Amino acid sequence: MTPKEYSELALRTAAGRNYPLNMYEAGMGIGGEGGEIVDIIKKIAFYNKDIDKDHIKEELGDLLWYVNLMLHSIGATWEEVFDLNIAKLEARYPDLRFNADHAINRDVNAEQKAMLAQALGNYDWATAEDDNAVAFNTGALR
Ligand SMILES: [Mg+2]
Repeated sequence: MTPKEYSELALRTAAGRNYPLNMYEAGMGIGGEGGEIVDIIKKIAFYNKDIDKDHIKEELGDLLWYVNLMLHSIGATWEEVFDLNIAKLEARYPDLRFNADHAINRDVNAEQKAMLAQALGNYDWATAEDDNAVAFNTGALR
């Protein structure tokens, strides 16, 4: 299943609220599902519970559902976020390996430039120009 296919299938079960309510629900849901994963890990770490991979996968799915809702509510795609995150990580870790010094002493400007370059590289200039042309011709552009 592709991210787009997942997104469309998952959104069938969304409440159908509009912005900003779906964004609020998504943000709270991400926190709640993240908390459920933390609780599983807590019980493994401190209660000597066995690792229940199926339960972890279930909660990760719940978390993804809310992330998908957030993406939908802000008009973004999984692919955009994948690309932005990799661009940021490559800027943060030039040798592509975790480095505590780079993690702590981040070059935020370099990371933001890398993400902007990624976003501009993915920007659909042709469609944007067409949209502006339509808006101009219909008087919608001010
Ligand atoms: Mg859950």
